[in-house]
Amino acid sequence: MALKYCPECDKLYAENPVGICLACQDAEEPLVEQVREFLRESRKATIEEVHQATGVKHKTILRMIRSGRIQSEHGFSIFFNCEKCGSPIPDGRFCDACSRKLSGELLEKVREMAKEAQPEPKLDVRVKTGSRMYTRDGSDQS
Ligand SMILES: [Zn+2]
Ligand SMILES: [Zn+2]
Repeated sequence: MALKYCPECDKLYAENPVGICLACQDAEEPLVEQVREFLRESRKATIEEVHQATGVKHKTILRMIRSGRIQSEHGFSIFFNCEKCGSPIPDGRFCDACSRKLSGELLEKVREMAKEAQPEPKLDVRVKTGSRMYTRDGSDQS
């Protein structure tokens, strides 16, 4: 079992699925209960709404979800907020629209960079010559 530093209290602890030490898990239990309570009332909520209602930090809520302390099997769904536009998404960091836009922008950037790196792309037919892979020592079966 690996030892890790607890992100909450900076003490070494034996790694576990929750991602924080046992002491901090205990300390977090009332918060988990609060979040569960809130989700019992409003079955569809975003992290932001949970945060507003309970005062629990975003990353703590995320950790509760990821570690399974709050589970959607209990009859509610919790949504993440798109990091760009804030709209609710079931998982990940960006909504569909934003991730499409982002990958579009990224592609554009990559193309531009490629253009700058090679102002006049020409076929380089000599790439392969000089790197022929003959083995002449007969180590191959023939
Ligand atoms: Zn801790
Ligand atoms: Zn978005």
